[in-house]
Amino acid sequence: MTSKDYMNKEARYGAHNYHPLPVVLKKGEGVFVWDVEDKKYFDFLSAYSAVNQGHCHPKIIAAMTEQAKTLTLTSRAFYNDVLGEFEEYVTKYFGYDKVLPMNTGAEADETALKLARKWGYEKKGIPENEAKIIVCENNFHGRTITIISMSTDPDAYKGFGPYTPGFIKIPYNDIDALKKELEDKNVAAFLVEPIQGEAGVYVPDDGYLKKTYDLCKEKNVLFIADEVQSGLARTGKLLACDHEGVRPDILILGKALSGGTMPVSAVLADDDIMLVIKPGEHGSTFGGNPVAGKVGIAALEVIKNEKLAENAEKLGKIFREELRKIDSDMVELVRGKGLLNAMIIKPRNGKEAWDVCLKLRDNGLLAKPTHGHIIRFAPPLVINEEQILEAAKIIKDTILSF
Ligand code: PLP
Repeated sequence: MTSKDYMNKEARYGAHNYHPLPVVLKKGEGVFVWDVEDKKYFDFLSAYSAVNQGHCHPKIIAAMTEQAKTLTLTSRAFYNDVLGEFEEYVTKYFGYDKVLPMNTGAEADETALKLARKWGYEKKGIPENEAKIIVCENNFHGRTITIISMSTDPDAYKGFGPYTPGFIKIPYNDIDALKKELEDKNVAAFLVEPIQGEAGVYVPDDGYLKKTYDLCKEKNVLFIADEVQSGLARTGKLLACDHEGVRPDILILGKALSGGTMPVSAVLADDDIMLVIKPGEHGSTFGGNPVAGKVGIAALEVIKNEKLAENAEKLGKIFREELRKIDSDMVELVRGKGLLNAMIIKPRNGKEAWDVCLKLRDNGLLAKPTHGHIIRFAPPLVINEEQILEAAKIIKDTILSF
């Protein structure tokens, strides 16, 4: 079968809920992927930052296959001999009392919202069903009904109402807007992405996270960080919140918690918050399964042992420097932190970000536009200096060819 055959089959039998770049992949290793015609590419999306440790990392795959041969799923109806080990490892790794394991990022976000509401009623004394959660415009936290109820992107919410109430939307990177809404005594939490990834890698002003955290503390409001995309070394620190020394009350992780091998997500918090959820009130059949536990430990070990945060910090600077040298009026702006970066494209002769991505593909590098005019560049964090310079050259040559 050719690439075209595979794409036709998906179009014929699959729901049309994605618009993929036309390339059909069959293999991945480290920073590279190969298509069904054996063409090799740099992967500069990393499955939306799920593959931070590189494709098919041997240590993660070994942990996964070993456990898969032994015991895959017990559900939480019974104990298993891996979950406690994972829970101890992940809580000590991030410095929290407790973890609640789930699968996808969206589920972890939902978990955090439930935790915050329950905490609001039981600990803060908010009247029943009156809890509010402050979120930011242009957020992306997933695709469930409640999560799209927080969205300001019509593509995400339009046609899917009625929506879940209880959210206050404020502009991102606007401290005064938060201050004003925090006057409402029924606010339980502020949910924020430390960098807005899906929106197009919006990096807030220095100090934003610390100031918003401090304001939340003043008003007894939980600070929840959605680090599903920005966390796990992507931005040059273990967590993006680490750039400002902020320790979220509730930390949401996903994606690279499995190195891109399977859905593994987690919510971390201290006892005062986590223990408001009692047996039977929340869970998931697959959440905390033994394979996820072993994979999660291996994925976190790789991040630490291979110093991926340090690598992202160092190579991110070099990468942005190289992109900023590109002398083309098509490049409006380059921004980012660590190896979570974006280029804003100004259309030229009718050619837009999508056309740039098609040409990048032809030249051996895969990236995807977001919101029409922004291209995100987020390679696996195991990339080395020689490779990042080669990739930057592909991007430069591609842009200059328009
Ligand atoms: N939160 C953030 C910040 C994300 O970027 C994403 C996905 O891109 C999600 C949550 C949702 O994760 P998932 O697709 O695993 O549900």
